[in-house]
Amino acid sequence: MTDSEIKNNLDNIYDRIRTAAEKSGRRLEDINVVAVTKTVQTDRIQSVYEYGLRDMGENRVQELLEKYERLPADVRWHLIGHLQTNKVKYIIDKVEMIHSVDSLELAKEINSRAGKHNRKIDVLLQVNVSGEETKFGISPEEVYEYVNEIAKMDNISLRGLMTIAPYTQDPQDIRPVFRNLYNIYIDIKRKRIDNVSMDYLSMGMSNDFEVAVEEGANMVRVGTGIFGKRDYAQK
Ligand SMILES: *Cc1c(COP(=O)(O)O)cnc(C)c1O
Repeated sequence: MTDSEIKNNLDNIYDRIRTAAEKSGRRLEDINVVAVTKTVQTDRIQSVYEYGLRDMGENRVQELLEKYERLPADVRWHLIGHLQTNKVKYIIDKVEMIHSVDSLELAKEINSRAGKHNRKIDVLLQVNVSGEETKFGISPEEVYEYVNEIAKMDNISLRGLMTIAPYTQDPQDIRPVFRNLYNIYIDIKRKRIDNVSMDYLSMGMSNDFEVAVEEGANMVRVGTGIFGKRDYAQK
């Protein structure tokens, strides 16, 4: 992908997000785009930066750390992949948000490490809506218990929910997955729990972001749709 191809892809994605947002009574400005930069070289990421995007997502700690060094300091890094408890310490002062909280043990470690840095870190709870065995995330039934536990942690701010939908040929098939999570998100929002603010619903990837936005996502994580096919197979 050349610089201009990447910028064309972004124009196209923003157009499609605008249409999807309008279908659900919102505007393009209400939707946050996280450019998923895993496996992508720094010069390509620079094109996205020049376009104006500042939110970048990585799913591996090591790769995030390398890119953190190479890209401008105002990039907001999102850790979107499964995070091992023993790696929290490496990224705690470098990320804007952790999308993939999937155990209380992990939440506790994030809380304690954030405390040592005197910061309060934004996290999302990852929910495995469809119960796919190959995916991380807690079940929809567990969400409320987790929300109540994380609400007690002083150095974590629970900002919303995240999911990765199953891959399907036709993204219409997974509309119920997105709708289901949106309903849980709204339900928690209405409960007005202290230290919990349901501001972000992170769902939708290259294959399915339009359906996700139509169903209420306000944060999408797009990789191949911007950068083209990844060099090596990584989910
Ligand atoms: C890779 C990845 C994405 C982006 O996937 P694309 O299909 O390339 O858009 C989004 N979210 C997570 C958690 C990922 O690991």
